[in-house]
Amino acid sequence: MYRTHTCGELRAADVGKEVTLAGWVQKVRNLGAMTFIDLRDRYGITQLVVDEHAPAALKEGADGMGREFVIQVVGHVVERAAKNPKIPTGDIEVALDEVKILSKADTPPFTIEENSDGGDDLRMKYRYLDLRRGPLQRNMMLRHRMAQSARSFLDREGFLEIETPFLIGSTPEGARDFVVPSRMNPNQFYALPQSPQTFKQLLMVAGYDKYFQIVRCFRDEDLRADRQPEFTQIDCEMSFVEQNDVLDTFERMARFMFFETLGVEFGAKPFRRMPWAEAMARYGNDKPDLRFGMEIHELTALAKGHGFGVFDDAEYIGAIAATGCAGYTRKQIDELTEYVKRPQIGAKGLVWIRLDESGEIKSSIDKFYSPDVLRGWATELGAQNGDMIFVVSGERRRSLTVLSELRLELGGRLGLRDKTKFVPLWVVDFPLLEWDDETARFYAMHHPFTSPKPEDIPLLESDPGAVRANAYDFVVNGVEVGGGSIRIFDSALQARMFDLLGFTPEQAQAQFGFLMNAFRYGAPPHGGIAFGFDRFCSLFGGADSIRDYIAFPKNNSGRDVMIDAPSTIDQAQLDELFLKTVKPE
Ligand code: ASP
Repeated sequence: MYRTHTCGELRAADVGKEVTLAGWVQKVRNLGAMTFIDLRDRYGITQLVVDEHAPAALKEGADGMGREFVIQVVGHVVERAAKNPKIPTGDIEVALDEVKILSKADTPPFTIEENSDGGDDLRMKYRYLDLRRGPLQRNMMLRHRMAQSARSFLDREGFLEIETPFLIGSTPEGARDFVVPSRMNPNQFYALPQSPQTFKQLLMVAGYDKYFQIVRCFRDEDLRADRQPEFTQIDCEMSFVEQNDVLDTFERMARFMFFETLGVEFGAKPFRRMPWAEAMARYGNDKPDLRFGMEIHELTALAKGHGFGVFDDAEYIGAIAATGCAGYTRKQIDELTEYVKRPQIGAKGLVWIRLDESGEIKSSIDKFYSPDVLRGWATELGAQNGDMIFVVSGERRRSLTVLSELRLELGGRLGLRDKTKFVPLWVVDFPLLEWDDETARFYAMHHPFTSPKPEDIPLLESDPGAVRANAYDFVVNGVEVGGGSIRIFDSALQARMFDLLGFTPEQAQAQFGFLMNAFRYGAPPHGGIAFGFDRFCSLFGGADSIRDYIAFPKNNSGRDVMIDAPSTIDQAQLDELFLKTVKPE
């Protein structure tokens, strides 16, 4: 037997037992007469001790252990003189009788402890070593528990886990496809699924009325922070449901997962719901962080017509009141101004109004607006003495984005974005279509299979941009964790949708004919949702990065630096695939 116990298992009640442990040497401390070894496995750390009475050979053996050696030890459990309350095994240590090296190790390139001294790149290159560290092991265990809890919930609710293929054609989720050449079909390519969207809809046509899959998806996107080219979704679809049924089911799932993994209740019952238009107006974006207030208020009507050209010419004027920030210094205001002027945010400037504790009002627009007028704005905003109001103006959408970013930045600075607090929200009633000026055409805001609200269908002809969809996002703390929709299940309406999106009937037929044809053979009403599982894990774990919850992630340039992929392939393989490579310019 390699071990009688794991390194996380022994307690005071085990004192006196003879045990065999196996694991990795995290640290050796030679204190002259005694030697201590921290032995680690994924269950914990147990302190091993060789005391002054031990035979010289045993002491020598213990002193000769290098970091990360894999060893097996036999010893007996003793109570520690100096207890360590920080670890579960801290009351005991194992006094050694025998030590055996199972596997030697080179000196690791970074310390494998709670906090490592290794930089990001090095830890990615030696990911298997980084994965030995406590924080990553806890992340992997959290991920496992979350996946199991989702499975057990969905199983209990009658969902079937059904696999769908990876070698498919294009799925329109709005990103580029990763493609795979086909050797047996020269010059033809598969696309890897951006999601199993079309297949899960076909499963509904096939009568599998509750489907799920914890499934890898592939999207060739420019990697913004916290995106991975391959990521995992909890992908679900149901038949004979309306929006409410889907929201209710997955709200229960989220709550179940949360309780199972973290042991606490998740959010208010039922989760709050907010129409998209309201989220945009009050928070400036479609995934509002509701852990704090500081809502946006529109001042367009109040602020225009006082001779201040910047405001008079603006399409939109809006503001937020930063709670308790009247004391901000010039430097702090300049910092915030620079923050919102960054190209990604794109503000032209920031107007401030200081509501002193004394009741005095000062502002950067004193020349145009009397304190009385500004007091009126403060009332509109619900601002108090002691607050600082920030006003942004310009084109509506842009200004809302600026206010949204400013709000989040201030929320962060004021410590209002507490990682231990979770506020879930359904954002509903998304627009069906989004107009793109550059290409002068509509795009599907969710995807082309999303159904319009029945009452808005007439608008498809007169004012497509105003049509609302039966689409919903699941948002927690300002992070979009899931999204889905009730689908179109009528081939004529689906054809009209492709038409609006600029597909010719031939193109639509070529790309999605299989789905529209399927709809001709008895399609049930259906809808579903997919959760970004990696993001869900990082959220539950209270972390910012999804990378820490993926065992083998890619780096920011989409590379796996450990196995060095992607890489070139040899000429024979290219020939077999009928491929020629071209040097990039
Ligand atoms: N396929 C969608 C997505 O990946 C989710 C859904 O509509 O169910 O975002």
